[in-house]
Amino acid sequence: MGSYQIAVLPGDGIGKEVTSGAVEILKAIGTRFGHQFAFKYGLIGGEAIDQKGTPLPDETLAICRESDAVLLGAVGGPKWDRNPAHLRPEKGLLQIRKEMNLFANLRPVKFYDSLTESSPLKEEVIQGVDLLIVRELTGGLYFGKPSGRMVENGEEKAVDTLLYKKEEIKRIVKAAFELARKRKKKVTSVDKANVLESSRMWREIAEEIAQDFPDVTLEHMLVDNAAMQLIRSPQQFDVIVTENMFGDILSDEASMLTGSLGMLPSASLSTSGPSLYEPIHGSAPDIAGQNKANPIAAILSAAMMLRLSFGLSKEADTIEKAVQHVLAAGLRTADIAQKGQRAVSTDEMVNEIKAAILDNEAISHIMTVYA
Ligand code: NAD
Repeated sequence: MGSYQIAVLPGDGIGKEVTSGAVEILKAIGTRFGHQFAFKYGLIGGEAIDQKGTPLPDETLAICRESDAVLLGAVGGPKWDRNPAHLRPEKGLLQIRKEMNLFANLRPVKFYDSLTESSPLKEEVIQGVDLLIVRELTGGLYFGKPSGRMVENGEEKAVDTLLYKKEEIKRIVKAAFELARKRKKKVTSVDKANVLESSRMWREIAEEIAQDFPDVTLEHMLVDNAAMQLIRSPQQFDVIVTENMFGDILSDEASMLTGSLGMLPSASLSTSGPSLYEPIHGSAPDIAGQNKANPIAAILSAAMMLRLSFGLSKEADTIEKAVQHVLAAGLRTADIAQKGQRAVSTDEMVNEIKAAILDNEAISHIMTVYA
């Protein structure tokens, strides 16, 4: 029985709906296993800009720093799309990653038997997929300077910079090897070493780190090939480690192996201090406020929090099993429903997962109702 403080940053759009679902699930876990979870709420993103004039207010950062872990929803929306760079919701995300040293973003992609029909890919391609994307989160193109627009000799230009320090690459690649050691012992390091200098340095460092992990196999793959291989034969992967933007793009692609962006959780580990957990999807303005969003990515992010930040593996397993049960019972939000199949709302999905956590008999009830 433990006592934990969790900072909750719902953000914008469906961020609010899915984090409120994940908080419900954490409360249910608290009830079942006798833990105390205290939730402290903070503003981030567009809502923070509207209320405080900045996408990441100091109060939010303070709440996060004094908590044991952070649960984040999503930020952004058309209302702020025309704002200047420093007043964009996404700036809040980049800032929180930098301020809290969230260097390693772990994005597990797991095949669910019951969702075979929801993926656009053939069953034989996705069967058994169980891979982990380890994305570098505090360097690369999203942070390198210079970045901006200029007019030179009457010509308008824009620049972004892909910059990495050796230490930044070392720590993320090392984290990937450590994770692979506990899995299928294979690391695929993804880069663009045929063109980019930063990728050539990345490759050298990966080779260096591999010396310390003789039990783990290292392979290098160019990012364009990796994008293709993820669709052609995703079963070949165990741990994929890559720089910030490549990881961002590849993980959205990989989400379709499970059927929807709404299924993929993530954990962002800090070099020091609390880690942050969030679904990989954005604020989905097209469905925001309609009680339609799939809350599973946020709920599985809460499960990752229990396992990685609090060492509560049994509790994390319970959430994951409850999710599997409701999916096996045929419960589907709109994003994973088949044509003609009844789609449940965000709230219904949360309630059924909660029921499964609190009462094992509820699982059999769900099986009968939705079979
Ligand atoms: P998005 O992930 O918000 O949505 C892409 C598509 O997936 C949409 O059709 C959406 O309806 C669907 N989708 C996403 N999550 C879903 C869920 N849980 N359940 C059901 N369907 C879901 O990406 P986008 O449309 O490119 O971006 C929208 C806004 O979100 C932008 O402002 C963008 O900057 C922001 N964004 C934020 C984050 C973040 O907060 N981490 C990540 C990506 C995008």
